Amino acid sequence: MKTALFSTKPYDRDFFEAANEKRGHSITYFDARLAPESVALADGYAAVVVFVNDQLDATVIRQLAAQGTQLVALRCAGYNNVDLVAAAEHNITVMHVPAYSPHAVAEHTVALLLTLNRRIHRAYNRVREGNFSIDGLLGFDLVGKTIGVVGTGRIGALVCRILKGFGCEIVAYDVQPNAACVELGVRYASLHEVISSADVLTLHCPLTPDTHHLVDAAAVQSMKRGIMLVNTSRGQLVDSKAAIAGLKSGVIGGLALDVYEEEADVFFENLSNEVLQDDVLARLLTFPNVLITSHQAFFTREAMHSIAEVTLANITGFADGNIDQARTVPDRRKAI
Ligand code: NAD
Repeated sequence: MKTALFSTKPYDRDFFEAANEKRGHSITYFDARLAPESVALADGYAAVVVFVNDQLDATVIRQLAAQGTQLVALRCAGYNNVDLVAAAEHNITVMHVPAYSPHAVAEHTVALLLTLNRRIHRAYNRVREGNFSIDGLLGFDLVGKTIGVVGTGRIGALVCRILKGFGCEIVAYDVQPNAACVELGVRYASLHEVISSADVLTLHCPLTPDTHHLVDAAAVQSMKRGIMLVNTSRGQLVDSKAAIAGLKSGVIGGLALDVYEEEADVFFENLSNEVLQDDVLARLLTFPNVLITSHQAFFTREAMHSIAEVTLANITGFADGNIDQARTVPDRRKAI
């Protein structure tokens, strides 16, 4: 199938070329992010492959349809960047990769938590500069601490399992509690109780109108002093300005982010020779107790292999009229 792949990095090309050897789709790789300014590039491509920060709003969807695109194949799990109402109206099928490696994201979540708690990011720099002082690197034992988990689907459930292994108490909130987590000893509670009782709060629910700014100023006010907040889900779950206020007041004792509200223009790019224009991100980067990675939680060999395989299988299935419904985005609510 004639396919355009947007937001291409060299590693995407490597994994997709390998996966396409046995499939033979005609793939054109575009570095550009899909947006109103770049949508013309997709002219004549029946399938368009996109990633987390491509912009598939109503304008882009309308033009894609007019240019002959029939399938949007997300090479990720989340689909909050696609206007599903517009896609349905224009008869564009939207498919995604629901579970390429929940382990990759769960493990990165725990890596962030351990790094931030034990100040590994600071220790690494200190020691390399000949500073062997440990003053300021004090952490806490995880055993016995209360971990609040919001969203106990594939990734959240794995985080629960890993942190149970550390001897943590887990209190969780999900609109659909997970029986496997209950069996593991996870206690479900209201969102308010989870947020207000946690020593560590980690977010694993999707971005929807209900979860937008789930951590806002009121939530920060209700938190235990010194809480560690980890977000590897979607940036807009956290109101960054409220988080900054919480960090300044000491309510938030540590903040680890793999995702950021306004990441689209920044993450995945090398901007080391440029002046950072985002003042909120710039402020976040000044805190010694903030650790930010650039949306890399998914980025393992296993996950990349699986993403390329499943995305191309989605395209093949669509071309053959054999669509895998489990990988078709079913949710017709308006995406935000
Ligand atoms: P999943 O669908 O398996 O689990 C999501 C869970 O959230 C479900 O149990 C669902 O019931 C719950 N949920 C839905 N609405 C909720 C609400 N309002 N409040 C609380 N819980 C709610 O998804 P997953 O595979 O575990 O992925 C979770 C999220 O992780 C994705 O939506 C995506 O945004 C993010 N993600 C990030 C990366 C990364 O690289 N940082 C990679 C993959 C996924």
